[in-house]
Amino acid sequence: MAMARKPLVAGNWKMNGNPTLVREMGDALNKLDTDAMNVVVCPPSCFLPLFANTSFATAGQDVSANEEGAHTGDIAASMLRDLGCKYVIVGHSERRQDHGESSQLVANKAKRALSEGLVPIICVGEPLEVRESEKEQEYVEQQLLPVFETLSKQELSQCVVAYEPIWAIGTGKTASPEQAQQMHAFIRSKLAEQDSVIAEGTRLLYGGSVKPDNARELFAQKDIDGGLIGGASLKTDSFIAICQATQ
Ligand code: PGA
Repeated sequence: MAMARKPLVAGNWKMNGNPTLVREMGDALNKLDTDAMNVVVCPPSCFLPLFANTSFATAGQDVSANEEGAHTGDIAASMLRDLGCKYVIVGHSERRQDHGESSQLVANKAKRALSEGLVPIICVGEPLEVRESEKEQEYVEQQLLPVFETLSKQELSQCVVAYEPIWAIGTGKTASPEQAQQMHAFIRSKLAEQDSVIAEGTRLLYGGSVKPDNARELFAQKDIDGGLIGGASLKTDSFIAICQATQ
């Protein structure tokens, strides 16, 4: 983790949680010293209004690429912003898999989010068979290309990128710190081909079975600036321990 980039830990609740967890997590996180890091909670959007007056940020788990209108079941970037969100996850592998989201759609979602003042957390990551055939860098590069083509430099400079190898999500199988660092360095090199200043300033998160006992070693890597946490973000103790592992 480089000193110039403020660490960021985001808890992706996925389709989990309830008002009791909102209250417990809110109380616990409000006591955390969050000066030195950005903490973000990404609950299902129906719980967003329950997070009021927090010392941490909230995020949507997905956003429409469209403006407000006739899009049943979708949520507009302007709505997330009005509910107090600062960030939104786009392109999570579960969205790509379950909803057939293409990398171009993900890039369009990031652009829409930015136009409403939200910071997109753009997720990339390869499936197991791609890792086994040692094509993970090419795969992730293909996921990033539409982002580079769709966003202006100014827009790109606002984004966060999360590397989440699919084989490590919810499996208990974490990428080793070396594997994660290698991919993060690669992503930063691709950003640098766009703009070296943007590459240095962009926060790159690792996601995939991050737990209190492996977070510190992952976050200590040069190009890992924090984490996108799934399962462990549903337990206050675990999530707080992971936030503290950035220090
Ligand atoms: P996990 O999920 O921490 O449960 O592996 C990470 C994610 O999907 O964001």
